[in-house]
Amino acid sequence: MNSKEIRESFLKFFEKNDHKIMKSFPLIPSDPQLLFTVAGMVPFKPIFWGKVEPTYTKIATCQKCIRTNDIENVGRTARHQTFFEMLGNFSFGEYFKEGAIKFAWEFLTDVLKLPKEKLWVSVYLDDDEAYNIWKDVIGFPEEKIVRMGKEDNWWGPVGPSGPCGPCSEIYYDTGRTDLCPNPENCTPEDDCGRYVEIWNLVFTEYYQDENGNLSPLPRKNIDTGAGLERVTAAVQGVYDNFETDLFTPIINKIEEIFNVKFRGNDKIDVSIKVIADHSRAVTFLVSEGILPSNEGRGYVLRRILRRALRHGALLGKKEPFMNEVINTVLENYSDIYPEIKEKESFIKKIVEAEERRFLETLDKGMEKLIGYIKSSNDNVIDGEFAFELYDTYGFPLDITKEVAEEYKFTVDEKRFNEFMELQRKRAREAAGEKEYTKMNQTYKYIGDEIKTTKFTGYEKVSDESEVL
Ligand code: ATP
Ligand code: MG
Ligand code: MG
Ligand code: MG
Repeated sequence: MNSKEIRESFLKFFEKNDHKIMKSFPLIPSDPQLLFTVAGMVPFKPIFWGKVEPTYTKIATCQKCIRTNDIENVGRTARHQTFFEMLGNFSFGEYFKEGAIKFAWEFLTDVLKLPKEKLWVSVYLDDDEAYNIWKDVIGFPEEKIVRMGKEDNWWGPVGPSGPCGPCSEIYYDTGRTDLCPNPENCTPEDDCGRYVEIWNLVFTEYYQDENGNLSPLPRKNIDTGAGLERVTAAVQGVYDNFETDLFTPIINKIEEIFNVKFRGNDKIDVSIKVIADHSRAVTFLVSEGILPSNEGRGYVLRRILRRALRHGALLGKKEPFMNEVINTVLENYSDIYPEIKEKESFIKKIVEAEERRFLETLDKGMEKLIGYIKSSNDNVIDGEFAFELYDTYGFPLDITKEVAEEYKFTVDEKRFNEFMELQRKRAREAAGEKEYTKMNQTYKYIGDEIKTTKFTGYEKVSDESEVL
């Protein structure tokens, strides 16, 4: 099955099982506590919370997600992206643990035909109910059910407060025993990379307040999330998400642009993966009207874009290349997410402007940083210097950290943050202006020029927002 068929068969399976199928909600959530939609449940948070009555009590989606906490994992693990799609089914006061477990099992083993012997599951420490459903209702072998703690098997709240609960996760055994220090007795708990977490079934029955206190929710809900990229890797029998058909065309394009070969050299592979991942994230972020800036969402976009450009520079590019990669992203995703095609020229103008701006300063900043590293003898980059690089040369901290790491240096982040905070304070005091009114002139002119292509993402999903 290709990824398109997997996405479709997920939605069809749940439609057949009486779920309302909805289009992906935007990456920018209506929840003021959050920068991005980090999971399929985010648009439904008020329903989970019990604040809003649902129009539909069983829903399934394929949701666009952005996770900034995984930026540094990208390129280093086989299973993390910044932008990814989350397949999810949700029940508000309808089916609970047994229903959710049965659906997941049927979809994975009957529809996708994943071999049962390659699946493992985990449950929360004292969740005997979930344990027994796996054992007695599904007939799952007990030796492959692991009990895990809060870190892995408790989900939420997303943001400082909100719905949460214990969860049960499904893992796929990739058979990579070469990754296990202890292949005989290795389980998903060892987290060696052999077992890949593919699906999280969350039993949302509590509300956690800002002080960490739990109280029962008015109804028991189900929130599940399966990463499309990871499920596709399992179905297609590849270890790395970047080897699935969701990435192959993008990676082929990168190979062509840079005249490099994927899977030839570890260092080059990291750069290829970073560019492949970040080009998807950038496309989707800009399509929702986010512009590079030094604050909030715009800063996340800037970091992601500049990190991709830095890796482009590592592969030897001295001129803009992102839009060529973005062309392939558009080719692959426009039929599923037409909003990116509608925004094509906007995306390209924003990306190219930021790219040109960054390329001008990259050389200078890099020269300074390498000079600093070569003349230093304590293997630490001073926070004030890292801040100067950020402030004057537009070097995001994670790029400085990445370069530092290459030379076995660390960065004094505490001091960096002190300078950052000072600057923020000064900026707040000086103007009291909002982020986007201080927008860089370049983007302002682009914004003026493309006035005619109004952002319509919100209207587009308005037929679905009735559930909220
Ligand atoms: P991991 O432990 O691998 O970081 P997670 O426990 O943080 O994953 P969840 O929050 O449980 O992930 O999200 C539900 C599902 O979404 C995961 O089981 C996985 O399939 C997928 N997923 C989560 N983060 C990513 C990511 N950064 N890239 C791709 N897929 C992801
Ligand atoms: Mg994670
Ligand atoms: Mg996990
Ligand atoms: Mg998880």
